[in-house]
Amino acid sequence: MIKKIDKIAITGGKGGTGKSTISILLANSLTRQGRKVILCDCDVECPNDYLLLGEKLTKPLAKTFAEFPKLDKKKCDKCVSLNEEEHASKKTPLVRSGICVRTCRNNAIFQAPGEYPVFIKDLCSACGACQIVCPKKAIFTQKETTGKIFSNKINSQLWLVTGKAKPRLEETSPIVKQTKKIALKLAKKVGADLILFDTAAGTHCSVISALLGCRTAYAVTEPTPMGNYDLNLILDLCQKIKLPVKIILNQANLGDKKEIQKTAQKFGIKIEKGIPYSEKLVKAYSKGLLAEFKIPEIESISLK
Ligand code: SF4
Ligand code: SF4
Repeated sequence: MIKKIDKIAITGGKGGTGKSTISILLANSLTRQGRKVILCDCDVECPNDYLLLGEKLTKPLAKTFAEFPKLDKKKCDKCVSLNEEEHASKKTPLVRSGICVRTCRNNAIFQAPGEYPVFIKDLCSACGACQIVCPKKAIFTQKETTGKIFSNKINSQLWLVTGKAKPRLEETSPIVKQTKKIALKLAKKVGADLILFDTAAGTHCSVISALLGCRTAYAVTEPTPMGNYDLNLILDLCQKIKLPVKIILNQANLGDKKEIQKTAQKFGIKIEKGIPYSEKLVKAYSKGLLAEFKIPEIESISLK
């Protein structure tokens, strides 16, 4: 019989609330409860679970790729004929840019009047729209590496899978999807029963990619106005994608938690755990010694 692999996300609208710390502590705690766990770091622009576990990313298990547009100048007529046709038939003002420029939603193509279009790779999401609309078939694509995926065996019960995007990449959700696939493959291979997905902060596409397919999520927040504001955004997103969610309130004894309680009430959900500030935890975090660290509030989460 094929073993069912549970999928849980650790998320949180705001950065710096302790999401990665909670992910690692929870993963460790679950292994002590006898479970085999894959911790999957989906914060691909800035993965740090490996650092907190005192690990190194050495040989990649896989690479991720995307198809970026390139221009064939011999075929491109700078859309002169198309623009003139449109100008004549629709009696609209004559435009000076190519249809590729006007189509790109990322403003990733620059075209000075009378010149060839230039692709700005840092803004390009490799969506392929410009290639589709070009009437002269002057745009082709070239496959380029966008990221790498690593795996580390932490102990006999815990593995870490890390997605790492190349710097300045506009669209990272394909890397998240690929990292999740590799985590699932590894989970099947080692007989893990649970994958914990540590998402990026925010509510952007790569966070959505990490959350999709999970059974439930924990939103890690802190009792501050920004923590509460961003918590509203992530809870709203989870509601929209119909993902059940609970709150973990980190540093619960430091700020005013009334606003977080009001937010929880508004969304009809629970504050599952309040985790008090701990200097010992901060020291373990800063030295990359989270692998063995325990706190009672996390140890009491079973996820069953
Ligand atoms: S759409 Fe094609 S022909 Fe028009 S400017 Fe862009 S690359 Fe050139
Ligand atoms: S592939 Fe998409 S994002 Fe990139 S330049 Fe073309 S239209 Fe813009």
